[in-house]
Amino acid sequence: MIRVEEALEKILAAISPLGLEKVNILDALGRVIGEDVYAERAIPPKDNSAMDGYALRMGDTRGASADTPAMLEVVEEIPAGTIPEKRIGPGQAARIMTGAPVPEGADAVIRVEDTRKEDGQVAILVEAKHGQDIRLAGEDVQPGEKVISRGELIRPAEVGMLAALGRSFVSVNQRPLVAIVATGDELTDIDEAPSPWKIVNSNSFSLAALVLDCGAVPLQIGIARDRREDLIAKFRAAIRADLIVSSGGVSVGDYDLVKEVMKEEGNRMQFWRVAMKPGRPLAFGMLGKIPFIGLPGNPVSAMVSFEQFIRPAILKMMGHVNLFRQTVQARLGENISKKSGGILKSMVRANGLIILPEEATTVQAGGMVTVQLLDDSLDWTLEPDY
Ligand code: AMP
Ligand code: MG
Repeated sequence: MIRVEEALEKILAAISPLGLEKVNILDALGRVIGEDVYAERAIPPKDNSAMDGYALRMGDTRGASADTPAMLEVVEEIPAGTIPEKRIGPGQAARIMTGAPVPEGADAVIRVEDTRKEDGQVAILVEAKHGQDIRLAGEDVQPGEKVISRGELIRPAEVGMLAALGRSFVSVNQRPLVAIVATGDELTDIDEAPSPWKIVNSNSFSLAALVLDCGAVPLQIGIARDRREDLIAKFRAAIRADLIVSSGGVSVGDYDLVKEVMKEEGNRMQFWRVAMKPGRPLAFGMLGKIPFIGLPGNPVSAMVSFEQFIRPAILKMMGHVNLFRQTVQARLGENISKKSGGILKSMVRANGLIILPEEATTVQAGGMVTVQLLDDSLDWTLEPDY
């Protein structure tokens, strides 16, 4: 029996990040950037107004108030997107809109709420401070500044920054192609006529969904029957993938042939009894140059083992450094005891996995447990039946 941490360490040691590819910045969302991004231009490119108001010379407003306004001549109107034509001289102002470039000579903007429009003139009702409501060129980003570093995750903010810098393509780690092989004579395809003797191959779909959820690409190979030739054929069909995942056939039954076939076809194959429930049996090794992970067939075991071993492996391939789910401490609402088996409905209802220590068999209500969160959007402020 080997410990979960040990199994994970061995799997991760055999996995390295894939190479880079150039993708459109929207396709880069959720991926890891493979280059340092330097700004080739300033953001904003020119000093511009942060308010709708009047661009003016600070000195002209000294002592201005609602009772003693400073009267200035309005020489121009500058909507956003236009280039100012006039220089602001003493006693002058320009009507300016948010985002429009600040004209030469002006050193402050007074928002329209602090002014009153008069015939050809504007009454300024407050004193201006130097630089007030002017966004300086390069205030956000200076030319030459490093704005995103290699290895960082591309989130919506990074997509926006790349767009602002005029970058439509960016280098990211490739997404692994993950082959999924279900094994078992009892399985039928999802759309075959239902039979009380058969079990629908749901694992191929839950596993493919988990692969997609990691940002990788599933390759569904389908069902291999519990016969050597069929297993070999299906595994060979999978070898253009970056990672091969199978479900079923790794325990001790007479028809659990995955182990036997892997021993012959694979190299450095290891078959573990991992100190984990559900998900005790696990196979790991290389099929040619491709890492292979054999999961147990039980639908809950397959999903739980995916979470513990395959998700971190896929994330590592994608260049991520945060490979693990967030955990939180939670207080148990009821007694729990470890029992074998598992039903898929429990995964449908769950938004986290309670991680119990190896030696614990029962935990009493009120005790604290570690929970691995499966749902990033979990909102602790909502009541359970909101
Ligand atoms: P095994 O690990 O091959 O002994 O499979 C254990 C049990 O898991 C089987 O008896 C099936 O009930 C179930 N099972 C195996 N493979 C699948 C699959 N692809 N989809 C749904 N259930 C499965
Ligand atoms: Mg089986």
